[in-house]
Amino acid sequence: MTAKIIDGRLIAETLRAEIAREATDFRNQTGIVPHLTAVLVGDDPASAVYVKNKHLACEKAGFKSTLVRLPAETTQQELLHVVERLNADPTVHGILVQLPLPKGLAAQPILDAVSPLKDVDCFHPENVGLLSQGRPRFLPCTPSGVQQILIHEQVTVPGAHVVIVGRSDIVGRPLALMLLQKGQAADATVTVCHSRTKDLAAVARTADILVAAIGQPEFITADMVKPGAVVIDVGINRVGERLVGDVAFAAVSEVASAITPVPRGVGPMTITMLLANTLKAAKLAS
Ligand code: NAP
Repeated sequence: MTAKIIDGRLIAETLRAEIAREATDFRNQTGIVPHLTAVLVGDDPASAVYVKNKHLACEKAGFKSTLVRLPAETTQQELLHVVERLNADPTVHGILVQLPLPKGLAAQPILDAVSPLKDVDCFHPENVGLLSQGRPRFLPCTPSGVQQILIHEQVTVPGAHVVIVGRSDIVGRPLALMLLQKGQAADATVTVCHSRTKDLAAVARTADILVAAIGQPEFITADMVKPGAVVIDVGINRVGERLVGDVAFAAVSEVASAITPVPRGVGPMTITMLLANTLKAAKLAS
């Protein structure tokens, strides 16, 4: 079998156009322009690129986007004050603190300080709690992007066995919560694997839908994939000049029925869902 290659960029473009239309309608009705503020601390070049891409996506969707840039020497207290100022600013609808923070700054207290109503990354415990109870305010961006791919590709998720490799707070764990819920592109039987999972290959082979979110280049090999499975590769790993996923793309493409590439798979969906959350935050504030 040669897998269908899922074009995440195309799905993202379609969704971004819908979000832009919705934002225009909202602006026409209320006069409010959705506004995302990113906080970037230090000089990490990869973080600067991510923030720039988010800024460009906002502008293209007709959103306002601002950046608070702080030096690497910023103290925990100073960063906390910036977040509190943004929380209190009624013209800011979404706050994004770009991770990782420089050494010496603890991310958790900062993320906890972001107003849950402006927490467009869905990291705040209140929003994670609502998600786990099946009544989400915001959906976490990367897991939501994965779910949108499954919807757009008309993959049957209800009743399917989804195996997620990786249990991070950003990807694996919230994705498991989402796919366990009742509803469209959900109602799955979910297994989550991690570094202590016994015979991970055997577990992975039972998946109808296999999601890799590990951060290990080409970790998922063809022998770990059931013939006909749908494979979603969340991983982004730099190997020399190349970007590769967590899945050995060429070999797994010969076994799977559909597969997301890296780049142009899940990556473009993450920013798209950030736009969706920012629009929702603006609506919640109006
Ligand atoms: P993370 O926080 O480092 O978590 C990695 C997870 O994978 C952990 O649960 C870890 O298990 C598990 N793991 C690592 N090595 C393993 C192994 N050999 N066998 C089994 N499990 C293993 O990573 P993350 O933030 O979720 O990111 C994962 C990947 O997705 C990275 O490549 C990242 O760049 C990418 N990513 C992409 C997007 C996007 O927009 N496409 C967004 C976020 C992340 P333990 O918990 O036991 O340590």
